[in-house]
Amino acid sequence: MPADNDSESKDRQGSSDVTRRQVLLTLGGLGAAICAGAATWGGLELMVSARQTVDSWNKAVCRFCGTGCGVMVGMKDGRVVDVRGDELAHNKGVICIKGSMLPELTRIQGRLKSPKIRRAGKLVDASWDEAMGLVAARFSQCIDQFGPDSVAFYGSGQLFTEESYTANKLFKAGIRTNNVDGNPRLCMASAASGYISTFGKDEPPGCYADADHADCYFMIGTNAYECHPPIFERIRQRKRANPNTVIVCVDPRRTKTAEHSDIHLAVIPGTDLLLLNSMAFVIFDDGLQDQNFIDKHVRFSNGERDVDQAAFLQFLRSYAPEKVEQELGVSAADIRRVAYLFAKSPATMSLWTMGINQRTQGTFLNSALNGLHLITGQIGRPGATPFSLTGQPNACGGVRDTGALSHALPGGRLVANPQHRREMEKIWSVPEGTISDKPGFDAVNLFRAMEDGRVKAVLIMCTNPGASLPAAARYHAAMEKCFTVVSDAFEDSETQRHAQVVLPAALWIEKQGVTGQGERRYQLTPKLLDPPGQARSDLQILVDLAARLGHDKLITARTPRAVWDEWREVSTHSLYNFKGITYDRLAKERGLQWPCPTEDHPGTARRYVEGDDPFVTKGAGIEFYGNHDKKAVVYLRPYTPSPEKTSAQYPLYLTTGRVLEQFHTGTMTDRIAELHKATGDAMFDLNPEDAHRLGVRSGDRVEVKSKYGSVIGPARTTEASRPGVIFAAFYDAKLLVNRSVADNYDPTSKEPEYKVTAVSVSKVTV
Ligand code: SF4
Repeated sequence: MPADNDSESKDRQGSSDVTRRQVLLTLGGLGAAICAGAATWGGLELMVSARQTVDSWNKAVCRFCGTGCGVMVGMKDGRVVDVRGDELAHNKGVICIKGSMLPELTRIQGRLKSPKIRRAGKLVDASWDEAMGLVAARFSQCIDQFGPDSVAFYGSGQLFTEESYTANKLFKAGIRTNNVDGNPRLCMASAASGYISTFGKDEPPGCYADADHADCYFMIGTNAYECHPPIFERIRQRKRANPNTVIVCVDPRRTKTAEHSDIHLAVIPGTDLLLLNSMAFVIFDDGLQDQNFIDKHVRFSNGERDVDQAAFLQFLRSYAPEKVEQELGVSAADIRRVAYLFAKSPATMSLWTMGINQRTQGTFLNSALNGLHLITGQIGRPGATPFSLTGQPNACGGVRDTGALSHALPGGRLVANPQHRREMEKIWSVPEGTISDKPGFDAVNLFRAMEDGRVKAVLIMCTNPGASLPAAARYHAAMEKCFTVVSDAFEDSETQRHAQVVLPAALWIEKQGVTGQGERRYQLTPKLLDPPGQARSDLQILVDLAARLGHDKLITARTPRAVWDEWREVSTHSLYNFKGITYDRLAKERGLQWPCPTEDHPGTARRYVEGDDPFVTKGAGIEFYGNHDKKAVVYLRPYTPSPEKTSAQYPLYLTTGRVLEQFHTGTMTDRIAELHKATGDAMFDLNPEDAHRLGVRSGDRVEVKSKYGSVIGPARTTEASRPGVIFAAFYDAKLLVNRSVADNYDPTSKEPEYKVTAVSVSKVTV
């Protein structure tokens, strides 16, 4: 008997959907909007229409996730009174429940309105001059006494591009440290390193419109139904119009995406590279490969040197379905079935997010998945593409493109490459040798450096690492040891508790700037409101800091438009060229996809494809020009088990993720009463079998313990978790599940493995 199967607690993925919907439908005026969405879009909690009378509708971009939906903001009497999806934008007027609550974002309580300095243990109000004077004095003192690498910048995929670009330039070319990293390291670094290793350049080759054309969707490690709803709805529309379309979902949990898929492969956490290699084995063993495409466009590599196709086939022999099925948790028959679908469908689109990015083999998983597309020729046609979905609104444009990571420089350049450093020194007009040849600290190692005193002062902008880092308690202590400065819009985040200085930041339409969403599309958010109190944009804060540190001659672009124009110019020296994407065009058009080298270029939907991509040689058809020989690389990527193996002491796997109504660590969405009401507090989801064995019922409090920390929270039984796997969403600061999560990371991308932590679970009785 399961320990508990009461209907209220059944699960977030199944019948409690009704409960959530009912909650949403009772939320006053919002109900009508959701009903309209539900009727039009077949049941998802989406909004397509608005109701308020407004003075003006203004084109903007949703503040929350990496789908980057275009929205129209309705203003009346200087206030935001309504938001609707922009019918002319890529999302075709569809937004999710979070987007529909954007007006609340401009009026919820808890905004930081004044700078604060910690005095006698308490954060107290200070003037901007006092706060910035203190920050500049401490940064200068550290740089003078301990060198530039004693300070750091930790940014975010939620800053505007102009802000990330300026921070990167200030720290790398001004202060002369590469200690510039941020939260995109935690979510998509493996996608970036996967693309770079395969194509020589970062960012997806395809676009969202490919979802309108595929016949097979291979969704691995993504819960797009909840996390990217407009994209998943496009997939469902395609399926409604073409019933033979197949959706495959690979996920240890029966998520809503899995529920709405035709095939669900519930792999054992940490093993899915076995699946990808096994599919490659089947593809070659059964002659399903596209040999013509391989011969023209592909070379093979073992990671150290090129090898021939025979070596790849030899490598795959140990991944025959019958050899891996047990460890993988998926039958050989299912592996073969999915390999056939992947290879033989007219167009296959893979979609993925953190399930394969947040892994110690994240780079391998990404390049192996890219490799499946290459060996089957499933790339470069509408609907045929590998496509990594992204979590934050500007991780792609703002951080990956600008190179605002510790190993990177703008436009796909690398700190470790002397030629790349010289190029950027010339472009930035700084003396040769200015940019350090030493890569800075990636996210986890930055906080470890703060822990042991190598980094003594850090500026953290627009993110909440106190809640989002794995092994969080360890890094709370690290922040305490450092001079930690936090710029944020809302007060009282977990990170601010450990800060010496807190700076109030403008949010969303309180400032102007460009974001680049998951399909290389840049979009402009206009300034429609003044920020509250003394809050300033992060760009203003960076410009002020630059001047106080004596770098005002380097940071000469001081308005969003001026920075964007400088960044456009920088892009012309790379294959990311988007000189043609001007503010004026962005103000009129619904975003533009790079490459876009001239002001009359329409932008590039599909990269590496002749006719779309301006860099492809005429007559080449498809050309992977990011690599010297213009070929993409298929790697031999051996599977190694996660360092997190279950044991007698830690017999279960903990995995974490998001839910529809909440974004990131919940600092914005969980303050919106309707969204909080819809999700309630985060819980630990356990399979009924595990719950029964542990004597746990829904509603009981359990302690989830790992080598990294322990967390106590409420349990809920659900069939969505396969036996042996527990799940918790990470939005809830009260649960702060990341205290228990492992901080192992991928050796190439340095992205931590949030998805696999061995834990014990016990009922708390007192
Ligand atoms: Fe679109 Fe994401 Fe905003 Fe929802 S949260 S409206 S999916 S950008």
